[in-house]
Order: sequence, then C-alpha cells, then structure tokens
Amino acid sequence: MNASDILIEIAEQTAVCTRCELHYSRKQAVPGEGPAGAEIMFIGEGPGFHENEQGRPFVGAAGKFLEELLASISLTREQVYITNVVKCRPPGNRDPQHEELQACSSYLERQIQAINPKMIVTLGRFSMARFLPNAKISQVHGQAVRVRGRLVVPMYHPAAALHQPSLRSVVEADFAQLPDLMSKAGDAQEYMPPSPSENQNPEQLSLF
Ligand code: URA
Repeated sequence: MNASDILIEIAEQTAVCTRCELHYSRKQAVPGEGPAGAEIMFIGEGPGFHENEQGRPFVGAAGKFLEELLASISLTREQVYITNVVKCRPPGNRDPQHEELQACSSYLERQIQAINPKMIVTLGRFSMARFLPNAKISQVHGQAVRVRGRLVVPMYHPAAALHQPSLRSVVEADFAQLPDLMSKAGDAQEYMPPSPSENQNPEQLSLF
C-alpha cells in the first residue's frame, strides 16, 4: 500500500473507531490532513470544538495562528501534514487521558511511518511527551533533537501563545528557526532522555 492509501485507510478507521471513550461524544474524527509526501509534520494535542464539527485539524483560533506562523516561513497548510495525538475531541477540551493517548497511538505511528517526514514539530506538551518523555517545554522548545532516528522540534502549542501573550514572540522566534533546522536535519544528535530522578538540565540533551 502506498502512503496515500495508508492515510486514507487510517481516516476510515478513525471515523468508526471505538478504542476509547472519546468516540461516544465525537461528531467527526479528525485524522489529520496534508500531502502524503509532506516533509514537515505538525502534531497537536486533540481536536477542539470546530475541528470536531468539521473533521479537520486546526481550523479554529489556534489553527488561524498556526497558518500565520506557517506563512511567516513561506509555507501554507497545504504543504505540511497536520494531525494530533488523539483523533477525537476530548469533551470540553479537557486534556487527553493516558488510556486515550494509548488507544490512539498506533494511528499516529502509522501516519509517521507512511509520511516519513524529514521533521516532526510537536505542538504542546502531550505531543512532546510522546517523543521526549520527561522533557520540559520551557527548556527544550525550538530545539531540534533526533528521537529514534527522527528529527523532532518541540514547540509551545499555538493556543498557549494565544492565551499567554508573552509566549507569542517565543513561538514566532521558534518558527523562524524551522527552515534552518530543516536544512541541518542531518546534524541533529540523538536525544538522551534524562532519568526521572535527574533534575533536567538542557545541557543533558544533545541538541544542535
Ligand atoms: N488544537 C489542537 O491541538 N489540535 C487541533 O486540531 C486544534 C486545536
């Protein structure tokens, strides 16, 4: 099966998925969208109200800001793949729970395998935690690390920047670095997870 077919199959499967409780309240699953050959994949947290209505990721206020951030580096949303760690809306936009993240995990894994992006940008802590367990977003945001062979750049969630105006310029500056990080993709070092007992220090991460 080629990458497009795999993405279509995942969309069909998520539409009827009953692996976790989120299916009871979903209107539409939001599998993700973008070209199967995208070089950059953005992974957010989970669908919100508008995404649940439309079945598309990042179409609300956070999505509008994400589109502005993409435009700032001369990209459109049609050029990148955009998805979430959970494909159905957590009611009231609550945090996704452990069982929900686990239940949805293989959909995301198959999307990553199919698209095989040069770079994964995680938006927010749930997405970051999938690749960088124990990392602190305040310490690692905007830095590229290699995780199991993949280039991962953790970023603050665009919605966080909308709620906390001081983060806006941080997110904008992190985005501005993405083209450069892409061009240096081959140089990224493997991420060494800190042991949970260690007080995490950015120097313990292998970054470039
Ligand atoms: N926030 C997310 O994390 N994902 C969406 O799809 C929309 C808002």
